[in-house]
Amino acid sequence: MSLPAQSATEACVAAKQHGAAAAPLTVAQALSQALSAGLDRLDAQLLLSHHMQQPRTWLIAHDDAALTSAVAQDFSAGCQRRAEGEPLAYLLGEQEFHGLRLRVSRDVLVPRPDTETLVDWALDLLPGLRAAAPRVLDLGTGSGAIALAVAHRHPAARVTATDLSPAALQVARSNADLLGLVLDWACGAWWQALPAAARFDLVLANPPYIAADDPHLPALRHEPLLALSPGGDGLSALQQIIAGAPAHLTAGGWLLMEHGWDQAAPVAAALRQAGFTQVTCRQDLAGRSRCSGGQRATQP
Ligand code: GLN
Repeated sequence: MSLPAQSATEACVAAKQHGAAAAPLTVAQALSQALSAGLDRLDAQLLLSHHMQQPRTWLIAHDDAALTSAVAQDFSAGCQRRAEGEPLAYLLGEQEFHGLRLRVSRDVLVPRPDTETLVDWALDLLPGLRAAAPRVLDLGTGSGAIALAVAHRHPAARVTATDLSPAALQVARSNADLLGLVLDWACGAWWQALPAAARFDLVLANPPYIAADDPHLPALRHEPLLALSPGGDGLSALQQIIAGAPAHLTAGGWLLMEHGWDQAAPVAAALRQAGFTQVTCRQDLAGRSRCSGGQRATQP
């Protein structure tokens, strides 16, 4: 993605014209035009493989194969959207997360590899929880990534997932159906989605936490703002989750959350203030403190 937008558009238009012309575009030509449009080679291959409904390895072995004009046009349009910064996952309609292939649409945040840290932490804790069939909650589930990964890897868990967005919940439910996983669903804002009496042994959340003035936010404009930023300093959703957690956790239950690289200290302070013990932090793949959690005291 290094070329200026002008040349990206020109190259895409050229690809479109070629696609519509009599001489069919070959795989090699299509990929070369995508690279000229500024796409990474892997993105171009994955996008073409998606439109040709062939594995990436097939493309590599068949660079003389011809694209139909419909495929050439769809690929060209996809290249243009990718060159304009749209996440590849939306163009492919899917994203891999924690070994699961998930459907994604623009109604949900694209699941990030960093969030696998939260799932790994949950999977480490689950066998040590007292409940044989632990109740797990994923607040603000989006595509369902966290909830589904936990349900898949720890089948004894009874997993509930919530989201404020009915459209996001629809995506998450369709992922559960595709994966053959059975979860409980609830629509609403954080704890308000659940009955007052609902109790869980483990609560997980990757809430919106980007500050309203964060310079990275514009680059994420294709994803739902609702899932990215709660406005202000970015802490309000994390604070609401922490404040409501003690009333919904069983004694000894855990709350784990993903947050921004500079939010570990305020999140730890809020956890301690809410009475959590064992307040701990885990690092993301780049070694930054990106997940924090704590345990509800066994003796209130
Ligand atoms: N991890 C995402 C990012 O930094 C943000 C996700 C979120 O706000 N929960 O791009």
